[in-house]
Amino acid sequence: MKIDLVKVKLEPVNWSEEVELEKGDVSPDIVEISTVSWKGKVYYAYPFFVVEFDYSYSQVIRCARCLEDISTKEKGFARYLISWEVPYTEEENVRLKEKDLGVIVVTDRFFDLTSLLSDEIEMRVPVKVLCSESCKGICAKCGVNLNFESCDCEEEIDHRWIKLLNVVGGKDGST
Ligand SMILES: [Zn+2]
Ligand SMILES: [Zn+2]
Repeated sequence: MKIDLVKVKLEPVNWSEEVELEKGDVSPDIVEISTVSWKGKVYYAYPFFVVEFDYSYSQVIRCARCLEDISTKEKGFARYLISWEVPYTEEENVRLKEKDLGVIVVTDRFFDLTSLLSDEIEMRVPVKVLCSESCKGICAKCGVNLNFESCDCEEEIDHRWIKLLNVVGGKDGST
């Protein structure tokens, strides 16, 4: 959804809509994403344009250990400041880049608000997603999901450990 900053300067713009986002554009960690409902407003408050919006959606992401799908419902609120500046000289261009973070500097009068929504959703994806804190993951040898079943590979390792412990422990009187 593109807005015309010249118009916003004269009159605030409100919106409420459902938007389809390309999951690939949002984050490679998202397997599925629903339609996103969002509503908000953008207005001019010297010297910035203020964008505020609420959003909600549901998504499917993958557990980092067992690779099972996890469905979550998300909702949030975001606020951004936009500074619209038209650079005239090289020097000004440099100055614009040095602006403090947190303020989005644009030079075009048309601004795509949907890009803010994509950014917001991307930031909400945790670095490491786990289906549960106690997720056992998958067996590195046979690939079964250890949350649902156990495998012989695991037992094999256990036996070896027991033998090793016996050796280290040096049972009294034996051998
Ligand atoms: Zn898991
Ligand atoms: Zn296994």
